Order: sequence, then C-alpha cells, then structure tokens
Amino acid sequence: MAETIFQKIIDKEIPTEIVYEDDLCIAFKDINPAAPIHLIVIPKKPIESVDDVAEEDEAIVGHLFFAMGKIAKQQGIDRGYRVVTNNGRDAGQEVMHLHFHMLAGRGFSWPPG
Ligand code: AMP
Repeated sequence: MAETIFQKIIDKEIPTEIVYEDDLCIAFKDINPAAPIHLIVIPKKPIESVDDVAEEDEAIVGHLFFAMGKIAKQQGIDRGYRVVTNNGRDAGQEVMHLHFHMLAGRGFSWPPG
C-alpha cells in the first residue's frame, strides 16, 4: 500500500490537530471541515478501506468504534453526531487509508448526499 497523508499524520511528519490517540488508533481535526466539529478517526495499521478489513482486523475496527464513543464524550458531542465512511473512489474516498468521519455541530439530512 502506497504511503498516504494519513500515514504521515500517524508518523507525526506533518502538523495535525490530534484530539485522541492510543496504541491502535488516532483521531484528528479534518483540515477541510464539513461541519463545526469534523474529526477523522483512523487505525494505525494501514488498512486501505472497508473492503480491505481482514478477519484479523476485527478487534482493530471494533476498537475504532469504542474510541469514537470516548471521543464523542470528550468533545461534548455525545448527544448526536454522524459517523461516515466513504468506501472506494465512487463513494468519494480520497485517502486510501480506512477512516471514519465524525461530524457534529449542525443538522444533518437523510438520506445523505
Ligand atoms: P475521504 O474523502 O473520505 O477520503 O476523506 C478524506 C478526508 O481527509 C477529507 O475530509 C480531507 O479534508 C481530510 N484530510 C486530508 N488531508 C488532511 C490532513 N493533512 N489533515 C487533516 N485532514 C485531512
């Protein structure tokens, strides 16, 4: 897998506003926010997309959701936020490192655009 901008964030090679980090994942502010609060949550393991999650990654992906719950409380958005993942280019995935967007601070329509 080619090195992505998110790998540089994991390796602390570029300045990023990190809001949460542990052994398995890291969360940071999106550089181009689509909502007043827009965080990106990624595994430290370089998994490209949902399609590339292997059976051995189940614990890592579960941990991402556990971490998102903690981050939501820490950020004071636990009353409501949206979690989005774009899987594959046709869905708008630009960075080929599995990630979840956490969006909050405004209303959200359904179905999503
Ligand atoms: P996606 O389109 O789902 O692949 O989302 C990639 C997200 O990463 C976009 O919302 C970008 O604004 C965000 N992004 C790209 N580069 C950076 C960066 N250096 N720091 C923070 N967020 C970034």
